Amino acid sequence: VKAELKIIRTIPELQRVLNDKRSNHKTIGFVPTMGFLHQGHLALVAKAKEQNDIVVMSIFVNSAQFGPGEDYEAYPRDEDGDTEKATQAGVDILFLPEQGEMYPQDGGIRILPGSQATELCGASRPGHFDGVLKVVLKLFNIVKPDHSYFGMKDAQQLAIIETFVRDFNVNTEIVRVQTVREEDGLAKSSRNVNLSENERIEAPIIREALKKGERLFHEGITTTIIEQQVAEHITANCSGTIDYVSLLSYPALTPYEGGTGEAILACAVLFQKTRLIDNIIMSTGR
Ligand code: AMP
Repeated sequence: VKAELKIIRTIPELQRVLNDKRSNHKTIGFVPTMGFLHQGHLALVAKAKEQNDIVVMSIFVNSAQFGPGEDYEAYPRDEDGDTEKATQAGVDILFLPEQGEMYPQDGGIRILPGSQATELCGASRPGHFDGVLKVVLKLFNIVKPDHSYFGMKDAQQLAIIETFVRDFNVNTEIVRVQTVREEDGLAKSSRNVNLSENERIEAPIIREALKKGERLFHEGITTTIIEQQVAEHITANCSGTIDYVSLLSYPALTPYEGGTGEAILACAVLFQKTRLIDNIIMSTGR
């Protein structure tokens, strides 16, 4: 029998329950999400279960990270379905705060990410990563997790959070989890349900194009040519338009200049109602 899932909606109750766990020397693994759960989220839970006594998942569609005209309202939500999936996955505590619970007042203080946030998604979503850091810091302070789990699907987010935690001595260990994909290669995403039938058929081209870029990278082709080729491969085979295709160092997200270390080839594609992102991390130690 599975241990029971505890649903908690308020910060004081979550803190009370977790203080109790901590005083019983339980380690806490934390999986922050915006819900509409899929196998990607559940891979984070599986990793958290391996490494901790208690797994806390939060589901909170964070208004602070959506810009004007973005899909905050259209973002898919399914509390009952998520509760079922979280139970099956073995989540111990599901934290489901309302917006007013997380943001009851605003004293005007902001956390500003650095140059990592001006690239890739940061360029077309100004303020997005400010909102991500805001919610993540609040959640870390509330949950006080030993380990916190983030997906490589959102590689820029992960890079910024790792840097924040390192530079500000935030007391949790960040664990990276590989991107989980559909059988046709499309990265699992809550937003995939907002694709039209035809767009869903086209969408795996994003992964194909990144794979092609990876091959070119290992052939020693220059950054600009790789970015062009990947963008062309996408536009030639799909109705979506390119937001960006970009090859950078990882996790610094500075221009890629060869040498050892990791590089990221990332892209964002705009469909009618949905913006999809994906990336490949490439090792350059050769
Ligand atoms: P989200 O609910 O989309 O904000 O995502 C919550 C967490 O799940 C983030 O750390 C994401 O990077 C991660 N995640 C989302 N999709 C995937 C995926 N396909 N594979 C692995 N992790 C994912």
